[in-house]
Amino acid sequence: MIEIPFEKEKIFKCLCTTCPVQEKSNCSKEKMLKLQEILQNEKEPIKPQNFPGMYCTNGKAVCGDINTEKNCICDRCSVYTDFNLAEAEPSFLYCKDGHAK
Ligand code: SF4
Ligand code: SF4
Repeated sequence: MIEIPFEKEKIFKCLCTTCPVQEKSNCSKEKMLKLQEILQNEKEPIKPQNFPGMYCTNGKAVCGDINTEKNCICDRCSVYTDFNLAEAEPSFLYCKDGHAK
């Protein structure tokens, strides 16, 4: 199991929110809108279920309207490089196949 901390600094680096897989997901868009509200309140922690990304550590997407036939862009992400996820299992599409091990 690869331990990738779910923390703000990494959340901001995660590219999932710009990924073609989630492009047409209303569920993901709603989560991003809600996240803006959470970010304005410094005291409220960001919970994994409130962020449509960092699936490499949070596991499969909660949103059911993503299109996993599209290309994963994780390999362009600095979290991916920092944790050497190219060597992980799975090595992409964490939103579909679950967190990196
Ligand atoms: S895990 Fe990969 S395929 Fe899934 S949303 Fe993130 S970048 Fe896209
Ligand atoms: S490797 Fe993929 S799932 Fe993990 S933070 Fe980067 S874009 Fe998000």
